[in-house]
Amino acid sequence: MQLLSTIAAAVVGLSSVAMACDACTGEGDIELVRRVRLVHARMQPDAIPAVVGPKGPLPWGQLTVAHTSDTHGWLIGHVKEANYGADWGDYVSFIRHMRYKARSLGVDFLVLDSGDLHDGAGLSDATAKLPGGVNGQVSLPIFRNLDYDLLTIGNHELYVNDIAQDVFLNFAKFYGDRYLTSNVQIRDPADGKFKYIGRTHKYFTTHYGLRIMAFGILFDFTSNGNNSKIIMAKELVQQQWFQDALHQPQPIDVFLVLGHTSVRDPVTFPLVLEAIRKVHPNTPVQFFGGHSHNRDFKIYDRASTGLEPGRYCETLGWFAMSGINAGTGSRHPKGVPNPTRTARNTTISAGPPEYANPAENSTELVYARRFLDWNRLTFETHSDNVRQFDTPRGAAVSTKVGEERKRLNLTEAYGCSPQTYCRFCVKQDDPNSVYSLVQTALAATIINETRKDIPRMIFVNTGGIRFDLFKGAFTYDDSFIVAPFTNKFQYIPSVPYSMAKQVLDFLNSGAPQKRSLEREMRRSFLPRTVDACPLNGAQFTTAMRKRRVITRRQQVTTQGYVTSDDFGSDGDDTPHEAVPHFSTTNDIVAKGGFPADGKDPEVVDVVFYDFIQSYVLVALEKAGKKYSKNDVSYYLPPSYTSNDFLPDYARKFWTKDCLKPLP
Ligand SMILES: [Zn+2]
Ligand SMILES: [Zn+2]
Repeated sequence: MQLLSTIAAAVVGLSSVAMACDACTGEGDIELVRRVRLVHARMQPDAIPAVVGPKGPLPWGQLTVAHTSDTHGWLIGHVKEANYGADWGDYVSFIRHMRYKARSLGVDFLVLDSGDLHDGAGLSDATAKLPGGVNGQVSLPIFRNLDYDLLTIGNHELYVNDIAQDVFLNFAKFYGDRYLTSNVQIRDPADGKFKYIGRTHKYFTTHYGLRIMAFGILFDFTSNGNNSKIIMAKELVQQQWFQDALHQPQPIDVFLVLGHTSVRDPVTFPLVLEAIRKVHPNTPVQFFGGHSHNRDFKIYDRASTGLEPGRYCETLGWFAMSGINAGTGSRHPKGVPNPTRTARNTTISAGPPEYANPAENSTELVYARRFLDWNRLTFETHSDNVRQFDTPRGAAVSTKVGEERKRLNLTEAYGCSPQTYCRFCVKQDDPNSVYSLVQTALAATIINETRKDIPRMIFVNTGGIRFDLFKGAFTYDDSFIVAPFTNKFQYIPSVPYSMAKQVLDFLNSGAPQKRSLEREMRRSFLPRTVDACPLNGAQFTTAMRKRRVITRRQQVTTQGYVTSDDFGSDGDDTPHEAVPHFSTTNDIVAKGGFPADGKDPEVVDVVFYDFIQSYVLVALEKAGKKYSKNDVSYYLPPSYTSNDFLPDYARKFWTKDCLKPLP
């Protein structure tokens, strides 16, 4: 492990220099890097460093914003994906450098978050499995090391009453008047009354004198637990406090509306904008959305745009605007790109260049946006490769993340996946699809010993799988990342096969089962390449050992996000090649114990997640036989859930080869 972290450390440093220097990496560079960075290598020690970095410096405007959303507990970073390897500590250090830089440029800089901090990774989710534990009890205190200026709440803070209460009693208290929940209330356990979880709004003046009115709004969410209450957007905009905020006598230079809602949602942001525009027809209104997990940017009107920064600590959203007729901040900060685009065109195909030098006397509102890959190379490059990237707090957070990973056993591995299985990069019946693996694993693990001689058909929804499963060690952390939900296995015994075999088609014929909105990844962006040093981890190691100068340059890109939005297709900070995207059906079926001779069985046990029970009953009825809830019982003990079968399979059927220490 020591060796590994040493190599990782050197590679991290090298990759930064590789991007910054003219010749790729000479011996001198290596020496320099080893001296400067080796001691302070951050990210988690097993994380893979990125080799392709940003296309150019970040734009800065009179008001510049860094924006996260839908982090869902991914504070460890994506240790298996080079594009997103930074951990929360690296991010904390990065924001510190950006705050410093903003001050030296003479502009206002705000850091915002749009919610969904729970459900999706081991650091947040594993604590719910401990006695008396709550999802987020370790991850939220780590998250709080980031000095956000404004935050709002997501729907994943509100499904489970214990989580909502923890957010109310701890998280909201910590951030105080910076945590905005304009339309979300909770029953206060102290007196039983409904109260806003955070504040409804905040009116404040920035360092350079912009007077800002901020709101934090959740979309019209209805599946919350019974201790919380969501006020729908159309009611919210009529509430007295909201109208009072719009009509207050003090001037408002900019509205900032954080929302846990897609910038494309036709209800929430448009209703809020309409209400603001009735009182403030020309004031800039900036939306910062989330929830759809997309990188996106939308133009609403001449003085209003919206940013959405993706998901899972894969993306940091970056936004800059100038032309606000107030404050003393620089509208054209020197030595950096400035925003130049007006919010006039929808979908710019051949508009102005992304950044240029705007006319000094321009008073028009101009904008820029960027989507940053969440990795150490991105963060270091945009920090102008400062010699000491890690701040004391950032370093401490990385250390804390590592300690909690160990304490929660998140690095404990069940077995070694022989290959990578993806959700959308191949067709779902392809052997490389995670759904093929799920079918195999279900057939091999979901067996009721007392009924093992009866063939079984196991129906599960594809939405229960949340992430790709990577080659190599499959860990406790991965069990939350790939299949976080805890659906129980129920069944109806001895269903005639002639009916059971029709169930999947009925389940997949659209209604009654709602399709989760997985927006098709857009592919209009032409693949681009950037100059970079063609080094992978192995080459770095070789280079270090042999002290060889590597001077070859070639075009390198990695697969990743290819974003297209209302400003066109140049928003990705690191250009990528698109990953192919195939859609999936609502549900799949796994078959176990079928006759070896290939003949059809007479009857089968119809097994399914409790989550889709009602849909299965409807499908069976359509197939010709009416069953009721009374016919349903547990196929496996309810303690065995959809979060268990992949670890179970890995333990029983995968080798332990990858777990051996390196020679
Ligand atoms: Zn989310
Ligand atoms: Zn959400």
